[in-house]
Amino acid sequence: MTSGSILILGGGCFGLTAALELRVRGWKVTLLDSGVLPHPDAASTDISKVVRMDYAADAQHTAMGVLSIERWKAWNRRWGVDLYHEDGFLVMSRDAMTPGGFEHDSFHYLRGLGHTLHHTDAAMLRDNHPVWNADRYPEGYLNPVGGWVESGRVIAMLAQEAREVGIELVEQIQAPWPVLTDGCCHGVKSADGRVWNADLVLVAAGAWTPEMLPHLQNVMWTTAQTVFHFQPSNPGRYRAPQFPVWGADIARTGWYGFPANADGLVKVANHGVGRRVNASDARVIPAGEEERYRAFLRDTFPSLADAPVFSNRVCLYCDTFDGAFWIDHDREYAGLIVAAGDSGHAFKFTPVMGGIIADVVEQKPNAWTQRYRWREPVAVSSDGARAQR
Ligand SMILES: Cc1cc2nc3c(=O)[nH]c(=O)nc-3n(C[C@H](O)[C@H](O)[C@H](O)COP(=O)(O)OP(=O)(O)OC[C@H]3O[C@@H](n4cnc5c(N)ncnc54)[C@H](O)[C@@H]3O)c2cc1C
Repeated sequence: MTSGSILILGGGCFGLTAALELRVRGWKVTLLDSGVLPHPDAASTDISKVVRMDYAADAQHTAMGVLSIERWKAWNRRWGVDLYHEDGFLVMSRDAMTPGGFEHDSFHYLRGLGHTLHHTDAAMLRDNHPVWNADRYPEGYLNPVGGWVESGRVIAMLAQEAREVGIELVEQIQAPWPVLTDGCCHGVKSADGRVWNADLVLVAAGAWTPEMLPHLQNVMWTTAQTVFHFQPSNPGRYRAPQFPVWGADIARTGWYGFPANADGLVKVANHGVGRRVNASDARVIPAGEEERYRAFLRDTFPSLADAPVFSNRVCLYCDTFDGAFWIDHDREYAGLIVAAGDSGHAFKFTPVMGGIIADVVEQKPNAWTQRYRWREPVAVSSDGARAQR
């Protein structure tokens, strides 16, 4: 099918980019969200997200990262405001870089592609990035290409563009749900009885997707992660070039973070295993979590360890068994398409996601979609930066 009408459930980066791309291709698009966009509880809504091409030796995600970065720059020009900040990505290891390690494989793979990276040892870390405890990080590298994006503001921009191109954005709907019977998806119905119909329904509801589509719970589930925003008294010390986006032995510890933003807030988070939850559960910061963060800061960024917490939040991943996104026509319900399974690493790809999802909707060939197709659960990982314990 190459045009018709489509209902999209979810106004995060998956839903909005799919909506915009399908609209360009001539579809009649209606996007429904249970909140106001950007939804405060959405994974896409935050002050910042890492944008990197560094994916160990993963050719596809590296290529998607490279193209996304080019397009983030084009979007900055289109919007006339820089929401993507090319502050660089500093990736340090707690040991010497070794084959099989995220830092080693990213460094050598990207170098092999011709990217300019700055190998960094402890002495260089001490000189160029003095906030770091260089005694703990003997080796790594700086990738000057990459950085962070103001994700919540991006969603607001994309939602505005959607309205401008004639996409019907319907917000604050009471629990809109796909109507699934007899092997078919027959539109969407909300808790207050409103009904929408279309040729196709695309579920792009992020971490809410496993609850909405229980038949997928063997391949995807909801994982809670925490985020802390610290407010140091001297934010200037925590800005690029001396303090770019960073990964602190990320594949083994999960720790990563950002330079201070315009409000002087330094975001720290952990791309680790997280906690299995339901998306509708109350969002509670676990006891001892702030101390866990401060213990890490005392070890790696001592000068930041006592900074006050300005805010924190629980944010949710839609995890798949292999960390790869789940974008395909559903095998059990005709007329239903699912675009979810972000596994905590999709926002950086926002500029290429619309094309990927639209090609799946229209069943057009696309080299990048194969990996995200319906698949049997097997034990592999798609994001070398994700700490597995
Ligand atoms: C703590 C944390 C840190 C992250 N850091 C990074 C990073 O640094 N770099 C990176 O690339 N990625 C990062 N990610 C991942 C990134 O945020 C996600 O991959 C991406 O935002 C997922 O987008 P989405 O559209 O699938 O989901 P969301 O953005 O969550 O959007 C889903 C939307 O669906 C709506 N919805 C829910 N239920 C319904 C319903 N019944 N009907 C209609 N709408 C509904 C919600 O209101 C929401 O607006 C991080 C994620 C988290 C949680």
